Formats: sequence, C-alpha cells, structure tokens
Amino acid sequence: MEVHSNEKENRKVNKKTKQKKKTNSNRQIMNVTYIFLLIFVMMTGYFVNYQMNEGAEIINNAYNKREEILAKSIIRGNILSNDKTILAQTLTKEDGTEIRNYPYEQLFAHAVGYSTHGQTGIELLANYRLLTSNSPMLEIAADDLHGKKHIGDNVVTSLDISVSEAAYQAMEGYKGAVIAIEPATGKIITLISKPDFNPNVVADIYSDLIADDNNSNLLNRATGGLYTPGSTFKLFTLYEYIRENPDYEDYHYDCNGSISVDEYRIKCSGGAAHGEEDIYDSFAYSCNSSFVNMGLTLNKNAFVSTCKRLLFDSDLPIHFPYSQSEISLSEKSSVFETMQTVMGQGKTLVTPIHLCMIAAAIANDGLLMKPYIVTSIENHNGKTIKTYHPSSYREILLPEETAVLKKFLRSVVEYGTAKRLNTEKYIAYGKTGTAQIEDGSRNNSLFMGFAEQDGKKLAICVVLEDTPEGTIPAVTVAKAVFDSYYFTNENY
Ligand SMILES: [Zn+2]
Repeated sequence: MEVHSNEKENRKVNKKTKQKKKTNSNRQIMNVTYIFLLIFVMMTGYFVNYQMNEGAEIINNAYNKREEILAKSIIRGNILSNDKTILAQTLTKEDGTEIRNYPYEQLFAHAVGYSTHGQTGIELLANYRLLTSNSPMLEIAADDLHGKKHIGDNVVTSLDISVSEAAYQAMEGYKGAVIAIEPATGKIITLISKPDFNPNVVADIYSDLIADDNNSNLLNRATGGLYTPGSTFKLFTLYEYIRENPDYEDYHYDCNGSISVDEYRIKCSGGAAHGEEDIYDSFAYSCNSSFVNMGLTLNKNAFVSTCKRLLFDSDLPIHFPYSQSEISLSEKSSVFETMQTVMGQGKTLVTPIHLCMIAAAIANDGLLMKPYIVTSIENHNGKTIKTYHPSSYREILLPEETAVLKKFLRSVVEYGTAKRLNTEKYIAYGKTGTAQIEDGSRNNSLFMGFAEQDGKKLAICVVLEDTPEGTIPAVTVAKAVFDSYYFTNENY
C-alpha cells in the first residue's frame, strides 16, 4: 500500500512536474509570442509613424525608388470629382500592363495633372494617398495569398465637372485661365488653363510640349501665370483711397476723356469721356482719368503695405506650386509710373488664383479661407478614410470694409462694364479689366468677382489672352460659370 501509495504520490509528483513543464513551455511560447507581438506592434508603430511623418514627403518625390516598390504592390487609386465621377484611373490590360487613364482628357489636364511622365497637379499632391491601400484587412490578406496587388485609395476632389465644362467651352479659342473658389470653405470648384494637352498621351508628346515656347501648354496659368491686372487693379486703388479718405463719398470728377500730368497723358479706354461722375461711377465705368486723379493723391508706402496685406509679394496659403503676385510701386516711382500703376498698367503682375482669393475674401466678409482641392480620401470600396475640413487663413479685410467694396463691385454689374452679369437669377459682383500688353497692340481681358444666391456663393477670376479690342469676353466666361453653378442641377 505504502509502495502503492508512494507510487501514487510519485505519479502525482510526476504529473505535477509534467504539468509544470508544460506550463513552463506554454509560458515560454507565450513569452515568445508576446515578444513577437511587441516587435510587430513596434514595427507597425514605426511604419505608421514613418508613413505619417516621412512617407508622404519621400513618396511624393516622383522619382523615388520607394514609389517604384509601392507601385509593384499597389494599383494606383482613382482621382474623383465632387460627385465621385472618375477623373483619373488605372486600367489593367490582359497582359497585366497598367495604363493611367484620364476620361475627360484635356478638361482637367492642369488640375488633375498626370502621372505618366513625372507627376503634376493632384497626381503629385496626393501621390502618397493614391499609393496607399486602406482596403479591408481580409481583402489585403486574400490579395497577398493570391499574389495580387492591393488597390490604392481614391482621392475625392472639389472639382465640379459641369462647371468646368461650362468654363472650358466658354473659353473656346482663347488662351488663359479660369479659377472658381467657394468663399465659405476655400474649395476649388474649377481650375482651367489653356492651352492644354491630353494627359493620356503626355509621355509621347512631352518633348514637343517642352519645345513649344509660344504656347507653354504645360504651364498652369491659373496658379502660375503672371498677368498685368489692367483695371481689376482699380479695386486695390479704390480700397486704399477709401482708407485714406473717410469722406470718399463726396468725391467728384469731371472726365473729358483724358488726364494730363506734366508731359504725360492717359486716356480713358475706347475714347470715352465719362463726364461728371462720383466715385461709384468712376469705378463702374472704369474711368482711367478719375482713377489716375485719385491714385496720385495716395501715400505710396501705405498703398504698398495695403497691397502686401492683400497678398501681393506674399506667400499664398496653398499646397501646390504658384507664382507670387508682384506690386511694382515705391516712394521713388515716377509720376508716369504711378499714373500707370494705379490703373493696373505698369509693372505690377497678378496671378488668377490671387485675384480669385481676394474676391472670395470679400464675398466671405473679409475672412480668407485656405484654398484646397482634395476633400477626402476613400478606400476603393468607398469607405471614408480621411476628411479634409475647411480652414481659415486670416481676416484680410474687415467686414465693414467688404460691405463698402461690395457696393462698388455691385455697381459695375448694375450699370457699369459687367452689365451682362445683371440677372435676377443670382446677384453678381465684380470688376472687369482690359490690360494692354507689350507695346499696347494686344489686350488681355480680365474679370474678378463673385455671385450669390440664397447664401450660396462662388468667387471667380477669368483671364483671357489676346482678346479683340473693345470687348470684355472674360465677363461672358464668368457668366457661363455662374449660370452653370447656379442652375445646371435645377433643369434651368
Ligand atoms: Zn473717364
């Protein structure tokens, strides 16, 4: 019994030992698993961190090796319009060759850009997102199992196809740019630059495009084109005059068609003599003589700093390439240079996006919202991964100042040079410009302004190059854009 008992005890002990051994080995396995898990978590953490902080920058270098590696495992995602229509996609041929395809061809050449010969536009801006896949984990695992590529995320933009088509068609026959921004959010609704190119074949025609200096098809004129502002600059001269003269409403001028100072003479456009006018008439009719008369009284230093506050010679709060507008005026400017500058001639240069941002700020009671074009990221199943919210830059004008400027911009539409925009369907505001270029033998046509209807606003800038004398086709383009924006979806 004893033995038995001992044996039993021994067996118990052995069992316990075995159990202990088993527990120990389980624990060891668990420890190893924990360590692996920890390493995995650390690596994931590192990878996420890398992707968040460094990945975007490194990946956005179009010639980076890392992009090549990612492209081997991820099918580049789609770029979508504001109603989620495909603007760029990757098609895979039967032999596995991938082709980047742009269904709207020229229409979004500059806004969407291309990714077939380097990268530009949204293709560059959102490169990292397009080459990242947030597909469901099971799908990713299944793809890995079958050696299939993951599908990259989609980039949703604020670009509106109908409005863009309206702008594009209205610009027919002209070089130039149109940009329209929603003032309350900063969303870019349309961005067109002409001449353009077909992004589907850009790799084949690239050397021809580069060689063509006369047209600069690859230049995004909406953000990078520097133009003489012409009479759109009178908005800045007017604003400074109002700031320096609280009694501006008492201003009167008798225009006989020209103004002479020393040996210099400046004429009103088209040989017009505007007669007796107040400050509103001067602005609505775009009277050169009256504006030179006003402009010569301005404090030049104050005027330049006002222009800088309104984003001349300044960095713009945007994430894509652009040129800086330049104000060319100083205390040393000659009388003639000053006369030219205050009416928008001379050496001052503006970009369409800058003028559009100023119009947007006026429409938004002085608060400038940062322009943006990518509104959200989705995985390929349409699940939202990230949303980009509107963000403000700063109040570049006071609300009471914008109320005053709106009255002037409205007078241009009610009875001045932009009467074509006077409709009951929306309330439009703006300033026209005809800029003389080179020796004055050629003209550019400009319009900056905005429209509103039931609180829905749209700011715009249009620049058309080489326009016939005595016409303001930029107003016609602005009208096509406003008409489309306010009525396309309402069967107007
Ligand atoms: Zn005049």
